[in-house]
Amino acid sequence: MQELDVDKLRGEFPSLEREVHGHRLVYLDNAATSQTPRCVWRAIEDMYIRHKANVHRGVHTLSQEATDLQEATRRSLRDYINARSEREVIFTRGATEAINLVASSFGSGFPDGGEIILTVMEHHANIVPWQLLQSRKNLKLRVVDINERGELDLDQYRSLFNDKTVMATFAHVSNVLGTINPVKEMTRIAHSHGVPVLIDGCQAAPHLKLDMQDLDCEFYTFSSHKMYGPTGIGVLYGKEELLERMPPYQGGGEMIDHVSFSGTTFAELPFKFEAGTPDFVGIAAYCEAIDFIGRTGLAAMEAHEEDLLRYTTARLREEVPGIRIFGDAAAKSAVISFLIGNEHPYDVGMLLDGLGIAVRTGHHCAQPLMERLGIPGTVRASFAAYNTRQEADAFIAGVKRVAAMLG
Ligand code: PLP
Repeated sequence: MQELDVDKLRGEFPSLEREVHGHRLVYLDNAATSQTPRCVWRAIEDMYIRHKANVHRGVHTLSQEATDLQEATRRSLRDYINARSEREVIFTRGATEAINLVASSFGSGFPDGGEIILTVMEHHANIVPWQLLQSRKNLKLRVVDINERGELDLDQYRSLFNDKTVMATFAHVSNVLGTINPVKEMTRIAHSHGVPVLIDGCQAAPHLKLDMQDLDCEFYTFSSHKMYGPTGIGVLYGKEELLERMPPYQGGGEMIDHVSFSGTTFAELPFKFEAGTPDFVGIAAYCEAIDFIGRTGLAAMEAHEEDLLRYTTARLREEVPGIRIFGDAAAKSAVISFLIGNEHPYDVGMLLDGLGIAVRTGHHCAQPLMERLGIPGTVRASFAAYNTRQEADAFIAGVKRVAAMLG
């Protein structure tokens, strides 16, 4: 495995050098969004300075360059996730829009009374689109529970399938518990019942090797901004034969073949699902983020993040009296959700911010999970490859100080 030179890596992220309230920033809110390396925002600058022209529309040089740069990102993503073809890679405004696209378009074919299996650990982005569909189609949502370690109850998952099941959908990695779900096995189980699968890969794409052909799911989605890329871009992977059969999600320019008032025909994949001018500047720069991950080495990044997770978890458990850590799965990503005694997560988060430590507080867009755990929210620290043991130490010292302040 490639060695990770964290100091060199940090050199690519000037934002990590800033001060907050007189302290060097310790950025541990990476599950919400990661910081962005120089190569990515330089690429954005380059797009604005040299290649700002609308894509897929012009014969002029700038437009062709912008189009080539956008399509190069699509090919990079195809390789990153090992899709069969770039026709299976659709750009959206985020994972949220991608899930809405599937619920609205693929879901339009669900029969009345169908059942959708999802899990109690889903982000609202993978709950509410199905609820919106539910109200139109009289669908039933069947929810898989977790055990005390924060792992999905696979026996219950298996038992929920019946002849009414139309879809199974689940997070690859929980944004609260860090649990890495056995998605390949879960997909295999769904397929044994003839049920298609959508995987929410937002928290997996920045950390884990992805292989769509091996996973064999029908749909998979993630967002660029959580994987060192620009904001406002999501990716929907879908199996070509399904995407071909699905109706368009939105109408407009770019997604048509021919428009007349007597009828409109639609563009081929993937453009059929990309109505309107895309964020071609961001998409072009996203390629740099994928290259950055490739250069750095995903396996080395993952190993480093796992080291930070183990180290920080062990020390917090040992040194902070009254700490409760939520999520102790055997397979866990570098996310630590916790509470100190009965202190409100906002108070803890505010005090940590005063020490220059950025963590997330609240329900993390997972209110059903909070309800299941019987808590209002948590404090969440989440690591990226550029975080260091010194930052973990500063975070642990900060938590101890806050715990002492709050008594
Ligand atoms: N799913 C999970 C597991 C997430 O963590 C997030 C974002 O936090 C989303 C979906 C939504 O992603 P976006 O807001 O980029 O569309």
